[in-house]
Order: sequence, then structure tokens, then C-alpha cells
Amino acid sequence: MTDLRTLVRGGTVVTADTETEADVLVVGERVHAVSIDLSDVPTDQVVDATGCYVLPGGVDAHTHLDFPLQGTTTSDDFETGSVAAAHGGTTTVINFALQQRGRTLPASLEEWHHKAEKRSAIDYSFHLIVTDLYRGAADDLRHLVGEGITSFKLYMAYPDDLMVDDGTIYRVLELAGREGALVCLHAENGGVIDVLVQRALADGRRGPAWHGATRPVSAEAEAVHRARCLARLADAPLYIVHLSCEAALTEVEVGRAADEPVYAETCPHYLVLDDSRYSAPGFESAKYVVTPPLRSRADQDVLWGGLRHGSLQVVASDHCPTCLAEKELLGRDDFSLIPNGAPGIEHRLVLLYHHGVRTSRLSLRRVVELFATGPARLFGLFPRKGTIAPGADADLVVFDPRGTTPLGVEHHHMNVDYSLYQGMEVEGRVRTVLARGRVIVDAGRFVGEPGGGRFLPRGESGRP
Ligand code: MN
Repeated sequence: MTDLRTLVRGGTVVTADTETEADVLVVGERVHAVSIDLSDVPTDQVVDATGCYVLPGGVDAHTHLDFPLQGTTTSDDFETGSVAAAHGGTTTVINFALQQRGRTLPASLEEWHHKAEKRSAIDYSFHLIVTDLYRGAADDLRHLVGEGITSFKLYMAYPDDLMVDDGTIYRVLELAGREGALVCLHAENGGVIDVLVQRALADGRRGPAWHGATRPVSAEAEAVHRARCLARLADAPLYIVHLSCEAALTEVEVGRAADEPVYAETCPHYLVLDDSRYSAPGFESAKYVVTPPLRSRADQDVLWGGLRHGSLQVVASDHCPTCLAEKELLGRDDFSLIPNGAPGIEHRLVLLYHHGVRTSRLSLRRVVELFATGPARLFGLFPRKGTIAPGADADLVVFDPRGTTPLGVEHHHMNVDYSLYQGMEVEGRVRTVLARGRVIVDAGRFVGEPGGGRFLPRGESGRP
């Protein structure tokens, strides 16, 4: 069978570095040529991109599909979550694979391969969450790096559950530094937060609004600072996940100014929503129980500045959905039992476009960098993913800047009963999506197949 030839014609091709009017010729799974006019080339199908941008497919470096947490499992599995991601122009996810305590790292990872294969409609990889360094774990980690699992995640928060001590963090950093891997840290001081939470509960402050008040910015900034010190001691690069506030960003900026290889991501909800959401009545504010919590408007402005100036390199979704009904069932009388996290895998691009490009905070090239190129580079997927160039996987998004996208539970494809952005409408619309050369979203309709995605073994991470 000969390779399918597809011409994406008449659009403006935008990468992290360039913006040019060009056609894109796709042969089989890869981009074959990007050139001013390829309309004479024989092809099997044409995707009309007139008046649209043609962007590289998104790489979401922070997702929790089919993820066990706080007495439940996230409501999107690899099938529903990957379809929602595709609708939003994301064609690769790096999902967290959790080591259950008492199980080996390879056995844990095996379970995650099983969850994703035959279900994911888009390509995927895993960051392995390390909770327990058993005897022999270092050898297992080295072996897994060789299999393309080149990033690990560790938690400085959630004592008695996911949190590990500084010695464990240091050991994994050292190993990652030597092996070409990258450690991702959830940076919040879990010990202090636990005291604040227990005190609030004892004082009868039990509603969801207290989630924000018990996770102060200093608890995040302290953990980022400590993480930097540990990474320096271990001579390893470092990646801070879901950075939410000015105090924490300042720590990252100090490190970067001193040439430390420290990188950080933020998430759309920290850029678009603020802590006023915690004054919503009744249980409504449980929708916004994300960790770290939503911060002030002033923090928001500083994060946009960090994206513009480069101290933040990635925008990831931290997609971690549970239905509101379930949050209420588990955490009605105790905010600390509300499963943390919110849906977001579908709307990273439109939110960045509407709130970033339309407001002139960010150029479209910078959005491409944050949405696709940056995470691909940092996590060992570039140049196969994250750009549009001959030889790259043909993961392409035809994005219509004249279209609009309504946000809300009646419109989205995520398997969850609420939206953080209910009732909002944003400018820009994902019209067509190609994943490795196949059209998987056509005129806003999913036409791909569950199981069409593949596991991506990754190269060195943290050395962009
Ligand atoms: Mn997360």
C-alpha cells in the first residue's frame, strides 16, 4: 500500500520561529514538504486551510487520565480524554503513571501501558511518579530511561500519600542528572500545608473555599527554593509543574539568572481565573479545588509576564477531572477530602489564543512554543513532535481565527459534568486536526479512532 498524500493548502504555517504562507505536503505519517505553492503536486486529499493558521499539534506535558486519587479515579480515561484533547488541537499527551507503594516501578509502568494502548486516539508517553525507592529501584529507573521514560515526577506535598522526603528527591535527581532524565516536582510544602488544613478543620472551617486559604503562596515558593537547592546539590536539571504565583516564579527566575537548568510550566486556569472564585456560594467553589489553588489577579499578571519573557517555558493543562457530584460525595463536610483537580485538556490552545494573542500579551509564535515546541524540546520529543518541518510527524492543527469556541459542559467533549469556564466564549476555533498524517478532527467532528495513538519512547529530557 502506498502512503496517503495529503495537502494542507492555503494556510499560514506558524512554528515557534517562523510565520509563513505555505502549503504543507504530508506523505504517510510525516511532513514531506513545506513550501509556498504545492498545488501542482499530485495528492489523495486536500485540506483547505485558507484564512487559517496551520500549527503543530499540541503536546500536553501534564495530564492525569485514568488516574487514581483521593478515593476515586479521574473521570476521563485514555479514550475519552484523548478525544477531548484532539478536539482542542492536542496530539500528544505525557500522562502521569503512578507507582503504587509496594509495587516496583516496571510493574507499575506496565499497568499504565495497558490503560493507554487500544484506547488513546493520540500519541502518548508517561512521566513515572516515584513514591517508593525500594532496594533495586535505581537499577529499574536506569532501565526505564533506556526504554524512553526520561522523566519522573515527585511530590513535595500530600503527606502520607504521594509526598516523598528530601533524601528521596535528592537520589532521584542525582540519577536523572547522570542518565539524561528530568525530574518534575510538585512544589508545595506539604508538612506546613497539612498543619494549616488540620487547624482550619478543627476550627470548623470545612467548606471548599478553605482549600485556597490553607495553601499559601509562601508554601509554594519555599518548596521551589528547596527544589532548586536539591537540584544544584545533585547537579541535575529541574522542572516545576503547575507554577501558580509570583513568589514561586521569582525563585525560578533567580535560578535561571544564575544559569541553573530550572524550567517551569503554568496552566490556563492560573492565567484566566483568580481566587475570587472561592467566594462562590455553597459547594460551587469545589469546582476550583485545584492544587496549587487559584491565586490573585496580581499573580496572574506576573505569570503572563513569565510566559512572555521566557521564565516559564510550558503551558500544560493539569487535566485532572472528577465530577462535581463526586467531589460533593467525598468532600461535602471536609474540603481536604475533595478530589483535587479540574478538567482542561480540551481548551489549552483556545484559551492561550483568546487571552494571550488577542490581547497582545503573547505572539502566536510564542503560543506555539508554549503549547507544543517547548514541551516537545524539554521532554525529548523534538523535532519529531512540536514543529512543522520535513521529517516531523504530521501532527497539524488548522486553526480558524475567525471562528469562536463556546466553553461549557454542553459543548465540551471531556467526560465531566462541569467546566471551569462555563458560559464563556472564546475567539478562535480548532477546525481540522491531523495526527501522524490522518485527519482525526474534521470540521470540529472527531473522525479518528480510539487506539490510533502510539506510545512514544522519548530521548533525553531537560537538555533543550
Ligand atoms: Mn497534576
